[in-house]
Formats: sequence, C-alpha cells, structure tokens
Amino acid sequence: MPCFRILALFLSVGWAFSALLAAEDSLPPAQIKVDGAVIDVTFAPGKIDLPQERILAWITTAAEAVTEYFGRFPLPHPRILVHPAEGRSGIFHGTTYGSDGGFTRISVGQHTSQKELDTDWMMTHELTHMAFPDIAGDGREHHWIEEGMATYIEPIARCQIGNLKVEQVWGEMAKYMPQGLPEAGDQGLDNTHTWGRTYWGGALYWLMADIQIRQRTRNQKGLQDAMRAIVAAGGTIVHEWPIEKVLKVGDRSTGTTVLADLYNRMKASPVETDLDDLWRKLGIQVKNGVVTFNDDAPLAEIRKAITALRKPAG
Ligand SMILES: [Zn+2]
Repeated sequence: MPCFRILALFLSVGWAFSALLAAEDSLPPAQIKVDGAVIDVTFAPGKIDLPQERILAWITTAAEAVTEYFGRFPLPHPRILVHPAEGRSGIFHGTTYGSDGGFTRISVGQHTSQKELDTDWMMTHELTHMAFPDIAGDGREHHWIEEGMATYIEPIARCQIGNLKVEQVWGEMAKYMPQGLPEAGDQGLDNTHTWGRTYWGGALYWLMADIQIRQRTRNQKGLQDAMRAIVAAGGTIVHEWPIEKVLKVGDRSTGTTVLADLYNRMKASPVETDLDDLWRKLGIQVKNGVVTFNDDAPLAEIRKAITALRKPAG
C-alpha cells in the first residue's frame, strides 16, 4: 500500500512541520465534529472538481469508522491537510504525524470521482494511525506493528459501520495476507524491514492476536477490546510508548498474554503460518474471485464477531 508514516524524531524536523503548517494556514479550516473531537480540515491552494462538502463527508465517514472501532476518536483536536493534485484522480500520499496534536496530510486528485471517495481506504488507514502510540525504538524495528495495526483494522472499522462489505474484508485479507509471510533469510518482524513484512506481516500478527484472544476468552473479548484499552490509557500517536507497554495494557484488558506471547514468538524468528488452513478454519472460501462463507467452520463464530456490524453509516 502506498501509505507511509514518518516519525518526527528530531526537534528540527518538528519545527519544519510547524513552519509548513503555518504556510498552509491561509484559509480558516473547516471543522468536523465526532464524539467530542474536533478535526480541523485545511485545504491547500488548488482545485478539486467535487464540492468541498463531499470531501468533508468522506473524511467524516473515515473518522466515524475510527470512532466506532476505538470507542472514541483518539485525539481531541487533530488536523487534516488536504492537498489538491492538479490533473490527477484518486487519493494518495497519506501520511500521519504525531507532532502538533496529530495531523494527517493527504492528496486528493483534482478529478477524483465520488466513487473513488466512496471506495477509498487511505483516509481511514491514516486516522487509524492516530489511535496507536508512537512506538519507541530506532524508527524501523517496530514500524511493522504500527503499519500492521492500520492495515488490519482499517477494513474492519469500515465494515463495522457498513462502509465495506464483509466479503470484501475477508476476500482482500485472503488475497493480500500471503505477502506478509516470511521469505528466505527472514529474521522476524523486528529485524526484517521489507514492505510485505511491514504491512502484511504486521497485519498477520494482529489477525492472529484477534483470533487467539477470542479463542482464549470464548469469543467474549477481541483485539478491539485491547485497542480500546490502549487508546483509553492515552496510547495515541502524540505519545511515545515502549512496545512492552502497549502489549501489557492490551493484554491486561483481555485477561490474556496473547499480545506479548505472539510478539515474543514473531519478533526475531520467521514464524510460518498455514494461511490456507486458517481461512478454511474461519470458513472463508474464495472461488473465481467470489467470496462465500462456511458457517459450520470451527472458527466461523470468531470470524463473524470480528466483522459484525456495529453501527450503520449515516
Ligand atoms: Zn500507514
């Protein structure tokens, strides 16, 4: 996925971001209100064919998906900078930072269609990053846990508000997750910084965690409970946490040690996962690109609980 996240590691970099924001503040921001949070949306100079309210509605839907998944919008007053891209179409270059109370930059092509907004994943992916701490480290070793989190949760969050079909969530996981499996020479998630292991290897960690939490709690708790607890404890992108704290706060909320155990298994060694067997157990079947579900599969109830509709959009 062409999304990346840059960590403001040095004060000088943080200062440069502030200067950038000031330069783009020529127009007063539009404001989106969700669950107590106020999101300032600033449009950089340039043209977008669609009316501004359509762009704001697109951001609002993404913010509602994140609010529903995490139990609240993670930051009180973040900012979003929309950059119109002349002559282009679609959504690209999403990046989310923890400085200045949290902000996301994203480009919207001048000729972007309503359908492209309706099917976009990137805005939700970026706002999901706000709901997870900046993990302490050298900036690379734990990047997978941040990108994997956003990659795994974004489609589920959209599904829970009715913005994405259940078949699409599981069909795309089955299609893309093999990219996260270890290849020859892999040294575990903390030491292997390829695109596949960062995004989809990370997503596989979170999927396995979700399933194992549900198995150990008779499907009474899931990853969503752990993520809500992390955000409730202040674990958002504006704060730096050691990875152990994230795992501990998450595990405490589910009464398990799943997050820590899985991390210890996967951090420094190439753990093999039989994905075909996993999809079979979850009851996910893909034939000629068509996804169907087997509700008699052993983990069917877990699959259903993960993507259950929480609150219809609109
Ligand atoms: Zn990302």
